[in-house]
Amino acid sequence: MKVLEFLKDTGRQAVSAAVFSLAATAAQAAVCNNPNLDVVVLGSGGPELDDRRASVGYLLRENGKARILVDFGSGTSLNFERAGAKIEDLQAVLLSQFHVDHANDVPALVKGSFFSDRSRDLPVYGPSGNKTVPGLNQYLKRLFGADGAYSYLSGFLDGSESFRLKPVTVSADTAKPTVFSASEGGFRISAVPVTHSIIPALGWRVEKDGCAVVFSSGTSNMGRTLDKITSGANVFVAHNAIPEGSTDRIALRLHMPPSEIGRIAGQSGVRNVVLSHFMNRTEHVQPATAQAIRSRYAGALAFAQDCDIYSVQSGKKTGSCAK
Ligand SMILES: [Zn+2]
Repeated sequence: MKVLEFLKDTGRQAVSAAVFSLAATAAQAAVCNNPNLDVVVLGSGGPELDDRRASVGYLLRENGKARILVDFGSGTSLNFERAGAKIEDLQAVLLSQFHVDHANDVPALVKGSFFSDRSRDLPVYGPSGNKTVPGLNQYLKRLFGADGAYSYLSGFLDGSESFRLKPVTVSADTAKPTVFSASEGGFRISAVPVTHSIIPALGWRVEKDGCAVVFSSGTSNMGRTLDKITSGANVFVAHNAIPEGSTDRIALRLHMPPSEIGRIAGQSGVRNVVLSHFMNRTEHVQPATAQAIRSRYAGALAFAQDCDIYSVQSGKKTGSCAK
């Protein structure tokens, strides 16, 4: 897309668009050439147990086949099943952080794989740790190591089972917010450290055939590091864990308000925003949330439900794994 057409398309974003770097403009010009990629929302809730939603997790599929799993919080394993996903088809698992609502069902995935035909090692990408929170290697060892809580699954770490979890640690140091890149099964994977209070966390971007999906993870986006991977995303899955105008100082260090989601989407030329990770405090204020986002972003906006399926190319909801 030519720059002028882009400016016309985004209308009100013309002012902020004008300050885009050349590189960002080039990324926005990418055309998504693959109509067969979709995202299944395996869970759209947070950690609360009275929100009638599974905690967060997302599945990127191609031609209906599971390819990239992003987070696997409480309850997502059931929707993985409903989506007809097979562990054998996964190219990689991307973990954004080790809060329960983002990683609780990881042991269920590993145990479930015992009954699958998987024989290829499964790359698992996740954040480095700090004094408070374990990094990926320690997290996996505490679960599946010889002394781990699920030591009976240690064969998936030591290689004596039919396949091995292959950990790839990505720096979550927000003081050095370098963009990490890798490639898995034809998908380009990028990550950047994002601020989530004292919890090491990563935002993820997955691309194929000019199509890009970005997962914000939980973040306040202090330092605006997430902006490094959002340029021109077809779908931006953004977490709506606090309402606009929140004065909860602890929550504000963990999560970004809707206006920040709108700023990122508007300035990055995002085409479709899909909101997720709702909590009771954001569940009943959706009109105000939409207004705060739309004040800075003119593209499409959706409030996800568990099992929603979104086309990456069009950004439109195409179905549900619950039916
Ligand atoms: Zn969370």
